[in-house]
Amino acid sequence: MNRVDQLKSFDPEIFDNLLKERDRQDAQINLIASENYVSPIVHLASMNALTNKYAEGYPRKRYYAGCQFADHVEEIAIDRANQLFSSEYANVQPHSGSQANHAIFNALLQSGDTIMGMSLNHGGHLTHGATVNFSGKDYKAVTYGVNEKGLIDYDQVREIAKKTQPKLIIAGFSAYCGILDWKKFRTIADEVGAYFLADIAHVSGLIAGGVYPNPIEEADILSSTTHKSLRGPRGGIILAKRNPDLFKSLNFGLFPGVQGGPMMHIIASKAVAFKEAMTEDFRQYQQQILKNAQAMVAVFLERGIQVVSGQTQNHLVLLDLTNTEHTGKAMQEKLEEVGIITNKNTVPNEQRSPFVTSGIRLGTPAITTRGILENEAKEIAHLISDVALKAYDVNQIKSKVLDITQSHPVDLNYLV
Ligand SMILES: *Cc1c(COP(=O)(O)O)cnc(C)c1O
Repeated sequence: MNRVDQLKSFDPEIFDNLLKERDRQDAQINLIASENYVSPIVHLASMNALTNKYAEGYPRKRYYAGCQFADHVEEIAIDRANQLFSSEYANVQPHSGSQANHAIFNALLQSGDTIMGMSLNHGGHLTHGATVNFSGKDYKAVTYGVNEKGLIDYDQVREIAKKTQPKLIIAGFSAYCGILDWKKFRTIADEVGAYFLADIAHVSGLIAGGVYPNPIEEADILSSTTHKSLRGPRGGIILAKRNPDLFKSLNFGLFPGVQGGPMMHIIASKAVAFKEAMTEDFRQYQQQILKNAQAMVAVFLERGIQVVSGQTQNHLVLLDLTNTEHTGKAMQEKLEEVGIITNKNTVPNEQRSPFVTSGIRLGTPAITTRGILENEAKEIAHLISDVALKAYDVNQIKSKVLDITQSHPVDLNYLV
């Protein structure tokens, strides 16, 4: 019996769900901006004997014997991360983007210190100071937001920074369609003597592909996930260059600060993903992500659907449904019914609760991985517009969704 059959016969309940999930990913149009599909080799590289290895510490400074090959793998991953982002320091051990941020806070701050980040409702992340998160509980969090156009007002950022004197300023987002002005954040951080963290979780793939500015020269520290536009396995990384004095404390902030043993099998997979990200194919992929997002925006504007800030300069599109009869929540559900997967999102001047919202967040990394180009991206935007604007036939839209997904199968050539 091969391994797949062994798993199937030993644990049919789990096996069944894994197969159904794979089919779901293939059959639906995935516009979740934070998701992607790893290549079969990145997937394969995450399933290896290193899952059995404890390697607490860092290469050549471990707390366990037998780390020779783990060391090589981690050193290769570090070198590649540095090459990809022009950094001089890389920590590839964070289990996730949140763990990366936790480690950075731990390295630079004392509990009770003031931090400043973009508010969650305006497109920031939980770990940028949300009250329910460690970042809002253990630290005094102040936030900035976006103006009525959906853009950051740097004068407001400066004003809040001057008034509250944060020790750490965070720039980065989970929902924002513009290009951040890293230089302005640097200047403001210098004016108040704060550290500047650029959280590039969403755009690290675009940065690696050269279609979004790299903050490595401006920020003291960069954090990222590896599984969003960067298209690697689930995980996080920390990068730095400007400030070599911080390198040691960043390492210490992660281990032993917030993590124990690293997931060495995932680090192997991160290394393979970084190698993929250095290819010409990957650069073209990132350019296409941007083209697809901009093609979708053009359709929404033509159909009279409001787009937050009226455009996009990255992989994200935020629809403001205030002028339609739908809430964000209702729209998310209607789209799911026809096989288009999105998430509800707050909009500037949001009047509804975060559980209902008046917006929808879309992102193009996943559809672009499956080979969708501008024409079909436009077609998808028309289908979304149909759902938003008029009486439509559910089955007809469903079958159009299937036409698109079937003509662009995802390369899910995984064992399971
Ligand atoms: C996704 C994201 C994170 C956290 O990533 P997880 O891996 O889900 O913990 C951190 N910051 C930003 C801006 C993100 O979008």
